[in-house]
Amino acid sequence: MFKKILIANRGEIACRVMRTAVKHGVKTVAVYSEADRNAMHVAMADESVCIGPASVSESYLRGEVIIEAALATGAEAIHPGYGFLSENPEFVEKVEQAGLRFIGPGASAIRAMGLKDAAKKLMHEAGVPVVPGYHGENQDGEFLAQQAEEIGYPVLIKARAGGGGKGMRLVEQPNDFSNALASAQREALASFGDAVCLIEKYITSPRHIEIQVFGDDHGNVVHLFERDCSLQRRHQKVIEEAPAPGMTEEMRQAMGKAAVEAALAIDYSGAGTVEFIVDGSDGLKPDQFWFMEMNTRLQVEHPVTEAIAGCDLVEWQLRIASGERLPCTQQELEIDGWSMEARIYAEDVGKGFLPATGTLHHLEFPDYARVDTGVRQGDVISPFYDPMIAKVIVHGATRDAALRLMRQALRDTHAAGTVTNTNFLGDLFDHQDFADGDFDTGLIDRSIDQLTESTQVPESMIAIAAIEAAGINRQNNHTFTAFTLWQPLGHTVRLIDQYGAEVSVLLEGESSEQWRVTLNETVHRLEKQGAGRVRFDEATIDASCVTHRAGVSVFSDRAWHFTVLDPLDSSGAEAGGGDLIIAPMPGQIKIVNVKPGDSVVSGDALIVMEAMKMEHTLTAPRDGEVNELLVSLNDQVEDGSILLRLKVEE
Ligand code: ADP
Repeated sequence: MFKKILIANRGEIACRVMRTAVKHGVKTVAVYSEADRNAMHVAMADESVCIGPASVSESYLRGEVIIEAALATGAEAIHPGYGFLSENPEFVEKVEQAGLRFIGPGASAIRAMGLKDAAKKLMHEAGVPVVPGYHGENQDGEFLAQQAEEIGYPVLIKARAGGGGKGMRLVEQPNDFSNALASAQREALASFGDAVCLIEKYITSPRHIEIQVFGDDHGNVVHLFERDCSLQRRHQKVIEEAPAPGMTEEMRQAMGKAAVEAALAIDYSGAGTVEFIVDGSDGLKPDQFWFMEMNTRLQVEHPVTEAIAGCDLVEWQLRIASGERLPCTQQELEIDGWSMEARIYAEDVGKGFLPATGTLHHLEFPDYARVDTGVRQGDVISPFYDPMIAKVIVHGATRDAALRLMRQALRDTHAAGTVTNTNFLGDLFDHQDFADGDFDTGLIDRSIDQLTESTQVPESMIAIAAIEAAGINRQNNHTFTAFTLWQPLGHTVRLIDQYGAEVSVLLEGESSEQWRVTLNETVHRLEKQGAGRVRFDEATIDASCVTHRAGVSVFSDRAWHFTVLDPLDSSGAEAGGGDLIIAPMPGQIKIVNVKPGDSVVSGDALIVMEAMKMEHTLTAPRDGEVNELLVSLNDQVEDGSILLRLKVEE
């Protein structure tokens, strides 16, 4: 085993690799960009090296700088994680030339699978079933149209250098072919610098089922069963599970055998995934799966395999890269239970899944699920990298048990401060076709309207948020359980819900546990029934609630976020400890009333921000002198950013 390794990645995968390294006494070196100076993966590592500015091309993609960092810190090997340099054969060669070990396959194996057309040809020759199609060099439009005729419509045009669904076009009928080809080629050239496309039969009702393989340097290859990754949006995986619903032992054997043959054909060493497309229109049949591509690295969704196979794939990677043999034979591998993974993203589902940024003011995960994350409460989701917050992985005895656990785990995943997709994921797990195991890669697209429509904010949730918000006004309480200090006074709280609507709530305490709540001219009764449970009119509701810098969040079956209107004027002063004016939420600077050197008196309006279409005045927390102004008119600011500094008093 190695003594020290460098992890050429960031975020959850860097942290996940380090967890295994620590377990085996392997020292770790992190690399980081300037934007990641305070990131979790840096904090977890034994040593760390800054490799450049935030942009990935100037940091995480700079192979030579990373190799220098490995040499300077005495690391023996480099783990690439996924993405970035993980499938770059030139990088692998440079790592080896520097006398270091790349934790992954050799450059030639990566190259063999790098282009979809060459990979398909190779697989066809190795006897692995490949989707019928044309994978040759001839790119003449008429010739390709002729090929499409022969394959039979519908067909799929794919960029051979493609990834992430780019340069891919479905063509249903011959008339559309030439336009679709031209646009796929343009996109392929722009995205990958290579316009060459292949044509293949479009499988209707396709399922994406992939096989995890592992090889060592001694000629052994095993497979660790399948993962079903059919739940995709725009060809990107959203939910993964293992095993695949409806899988038969005969089909599993056939797919496993094909995947092992694929790996053997390229002398594969390390972790890899052979992706197959399966025609699921009439159940799973051993002659209805075809090779799509091989990913020559650890996959995002590897934890579901670890759960059902009971092994640590990163440990296997480390052992194999240090020359050991595979830790077990095919016969020793068995499937135990069922596992599912959901990818939690900072993204705005209602706005077309737009990546979101912001500070994770509150972040809490259930302790009964495996959570792979690279961020902590208080960390910022920056615009520079993939906005994944975490992967939540559950393991149950049956598919039903895993599904129930996942549903609960999503309810108990509490993230606030940035928009997330947890409600969307919850709805997806609630989808009847998913529960029935009756789905294909089109499920999300077919149900997208239903899955993304905004849900009416329940009055119970507004009432809970208002009571919590009233707590902020009074004594800066942090949990719903601290409400017993409530006074029997009428109090109006104004909230803005996550869709931007403002509501006004009148609260009247009847006892320390009971309130009359008036909203939209209707009176409700709310009674606290112990931690995490309330009675609202006739319903008993499980909900927990937190106050954070961006407002109040209530977590029940879904997550609900509210901005509190009243206390903003003082929040800057409180948060900054007297010397700082801090943006209480993301927004734009509308008015700046002072300049450095100005004297101010406590309560003076210093800066006016606009956020959520409302203006907020930030006032001087004390008398003093403006030392530094850190923003200008019309600047966009993140919540938590320092806007102004007062001169520190002697
Ligand atoms: P990329 O490398 O761009 O991700 P893939 O070849 O891996 O492209 O395909 C991505 C997804 O596109 C698959 O998971 C599947 O959902 C769909 N897909 C690919 N090939 C076909 C096909 N021949 N028929 C139907 N769907 C396909």
